[in-house]
Amino acid sequence: MEKNKIKLEEEKKLLEEELKSLGKFDKETGDWEAMPESEINKQEVSDDGDMAERAEDYEERSSKLSALESRLEDINNALSKIEIGNYGVCEVCGGKIEEERIEVNPSARTCEADMNKVI
Ligand SMILES: [Zn+2]
Repeated sequence: MEKNKIKLEEEKKLLEEELKSLGKFDKETGDWEAMPESEINKQEVSDDGDMAERAEDYEERSSKLSALESRLEDINNALSKIEIGNYGVCEVCGGKIEEERIEVNPSARTCEADMNKVI
């Protein structure tokens, strides 16, 4: 259990660093926002191709950011379960999550059989 907590906290730290490199945390919404390309907002862009390319970068950052964000949510979720003492319990059937599964994925929210039932 303690081992898993350490693993989760380490992964959380890494994720937060990655998030910081891609965007910034909006304290008002509680969400991570992709760093806007300041040129796009402040300047008239004459070259459409360049503009599209940069917009794509922003899209890419946004989607990467939300993927990281949902992983971070899973980790926070798992950490708070450790706090309240129901870590390792499947969110769908209430059964115990397999040891091997927790080993591979300490932030797993369900048992093997229910892994596709949670979005
Ligand atoms: Zn289950």
